[in-house]
Amino acid sequence: MYRLISEHVVYPLYERVSGRCIRHKFVQLEASQWWPLADILDWQQARLAQLVRHAYDTVPYYRQAFAAAGLTPADVRSATDLASLPLLTKAVIQERSSELLSTVYPPDRCIANYTGGSIGTPMRFYQDQGQQDWGTANTLRCNRWAGWDFGQRTLVLWGHPRDVKATQTARGKLRALLLREHTFDAFGFSTADMAALADYIRRARPQTVIAYASMLAHFAAFLDERGLTDLPAPQGIIASTDMLFPHQRQLIERVLGAPVFNRYGCREVVTVAAECGEHVGMHINADRLVVEFVDAAGRPVAPGHPGRVVITDLFNYAMPFIRYDIQDVAVPSAVPCPCGRGLPLLTELIGRYADILTTPEGRFVSASALTTILPKIASLRECQLVQKERDWLQVLVVRGPGYDEASETALRGQLAGFFGPQMRITFDHVDEIPRTASGKKRFSVSELNEPG
Ligand SMILES: [Zn+2]
Repeated sequence: MYRLISEHVVYPLYERVSGRCIRHKFVQLEASQWWPLADILDWQQARLAQLVRHAYDTVPYYRQAFAAAGLTPADVRSATDLASLPLLTKAVIQERSSELLSTVYPPDRCIANYTGGSIGTPMRFYQDQGQQDWGTANTLRCNRWAGWDFGQRTLVLWGHPRDVKATQTARGKLRALLLREHTFDAFGFSTADMAALADYIRRARPQTVIAYASMLAHFAAFLDERGLTDLPAPQGIIASTDMLFPHQRQLIERVLGAPVFNRYGCREVVTVAAECGEHVGMHINADRLVVEFVDAAGRPVAPGHPGRVVITDLFNYAMPFIRYDIQDVAVPSAVPCPCGRGLPLLTELIGRYADILTTPEGRFVSASALTTILPKIASLRECQLVQKERDWLQVLVVRGPGYDEASETALRGQLAGFFGPQMRITFDHVDEIPRTASGKKRFSVSELNEPG
């Protein structure tokens, strides 16, 4: 009953006061997820044709890109035809921002947003209200796969200072009240913060928890160490924003007592893919985005093989993102999900391109596989692997009580098994793993692959 009131009375009220238009897009996406894949691709193609025409007619950057490739909008009829257009890199967005804006979009309808860039400064880009509303509607659909519904108490652990600040404004507070969503600032996430969070969960009993994967793992380890494993369990836990490793999933599910749903997204194009209750991979939101997987030469990879993720957002008309190189690597699948949704799957998110480590001989080493060695090392609280050079791996270690020379020897031995005898491995003891500007903790960093 409360769910219906929330969806049909409270949510429309929220839309009214915030000037947004989300629910009818949500209804559309709720329906299209069940269409056969061919119908989803037809819908995608029709939206793509509209976007491409708009970009060609009103965006100077794309007019030039089409001319350089010898194309007109009529030549781009499907996702496959997109391959003739260049990739949109972060460097291009930073250097040619004004040429990427549509000339028919008045500045007051463009919403500025920011993310980490490729040339040392944040990347500024623009979205329109429609894009943001489609993004939110899409996120709500994916929340529902994890058991969430309108009117449920939701706890959000977030570390992005800009987002957290937005929840503290009058508008943010009203939103929180209407949507029953509590945002907990987890940027620093000290021991005192985590104790306060445990108290909050005991008191408020949130039904859905949404958080960075690394924060959830950090919090679960804290609870586990103190024997606080009896908190009221939510229905579902959504791990988003940074990489979720298998050992983290196990720990979070065991300590918090609820299934974890992995999710992949970013500020630029919002939720890209998310897990349903089958947990066999993440459904790609192909009714809102075109997602390509390409090799180093830009050719599509076969299903089952890792490829760089390239995204076209079908609904950003202020600053169209066509073939955006998000700098992640993932594995697409051709196998349908047993849940019956037509949305295709990606089976593994391998990581950010800048996080991928290699042996001195250039062989790729999976971070997920590397994390399986961590539970074998006594009292290792956290670590970060930094590839400084082709043959130098620096290991940052946060020691727990009882971590000693034998632990380090064991860790060195395990890592040598992955990277081979040519890799020089050095250790540095730190109090904390450094966070990125947006609050993420990275398990692996390759200074060889850092863009720009
Ligand atoms: Zn599914």
